Amino acid sequence: MNILISNDDGIHARGLRVLADALSSLGEVWVVAPDRERSAASHSLTLNRPLRVTKVGPTWYTVDGTPTDCVALAVMGMVKRKFDLVASGINLGGNMGDDVTYSGTVSAAFEATLLGVPAFAISVAADRRVDFSTAGRIAVTLAELIAKNGLPANTLLNVNVPNLRPSEIKGVAITQQGRRHYGDIIVRKVDPRGKAYYWIGGKEPRWEPSEESDYAAVMSGCISITPLHLDLTNTGALEELRRWEFPWRTWEEAGSHQRSKPRTQKKRNSTAA
Ligand code: MN
Repeated sequence: MNILISNDDGIHARGLRVLADALSSLGEVWVVAPDRERSAASHSLTLNRPLRVTKVGPTWYTVDGTPTDCVALAVMGMVKRKFDLVASGINLGGNMGDDVTYSGTVSAAFEATLLGVPAFAISVAADRRVDFSTAGRIAVTLAELIAKNGLPANTLLNVNVPNLRPSEIKGVAITQQGRRHYGDIIVRKVDPRGKAYYWIGGKEPRWEPSEESDYAAVMSGCISITPLHLDLTNTGALEELRRWEFPWRTWEEAGSHQRSKPRTQKKRNSTAA
């Protein structure tokens, strides 16, 4: 099995090494990771400057770009391998609920999914005294299960692991994205040269109580596995919006709805964001 590993905490992160060591028991592991921490890089792709790659080990590379850049480069041919699996992490800190949209860790797995490679993202839901070894073992089991069962189409697994020893893990929960109450604040300070700067901060996040959520599962000592896809459409809102009185003809009335052929996707390097 050819396995690609990336992350958003950067090439020097402890969690990356633990994941690479753990998955090397299953096959050949390649690491392509950002050269520095890129947490909260989301699904951003670098299109306005060249990307430089540095080989730092026989199968280890750093890129001066985002987690998405790393996976895109590796899967699209920089590494001469056909990958069977992409694993992203092990992230220091949980990637749950609404925060998933900011996550570089999850986005690396998204990029792999878009490129047709099965993928999962894995995070330890703690910031201090983090023990990655439990998540490393869980990653091996998951990789084996993905190889055996395959993944549903266009779907990646977002895995959050409590900061516990293997014997303390209560079980596994298939979960939904939770809802976070944002308490973020902007902190304004003045630098030594008298210029103002800002820092986005906030208190510990609070979460809406929900039995099915990723957060609830992790809080109860379970491994949370959330299947994610990139279709952000709120299908429940389609009908409500179609009842709005727009001053324009509908798509059907315009007569182009049934006849339209599926459009070919725009090229990535167009100016569209
Ligand atoms: Mn991170």
